[in-house]
Amino acid sequence: MWGSSSWKRSAQTTIPCKECKKPLTVKRSCQHVYMECSHCGKKSDIAAYLREMDDALEAFMEGVYCDRV
Ligand SMILES: [Zn+2]
Repeated sequence: MWGSSSWKRSAQTTIPCKECKKPLTVKRSCQHVYMECSHCGKKSDIAAYLREMDDALEAFMEGVYCDRV
């Protein structure tokens, strides 16, 4: 158990996948945030989509923290 449910581990965005144009899901592991397409399975570094950031991704990024000092 992580002991905290105050942050989400993934969020649905409206940003289209570069491969199949379906909306991507943003996911996070402890120190890493990445985009994953649930339709074609493609994973991309978050940096590749930052310029296309939508409200859902922005809100998710604001909630991302993991032992950040
Ligand atoms: Zn895709």
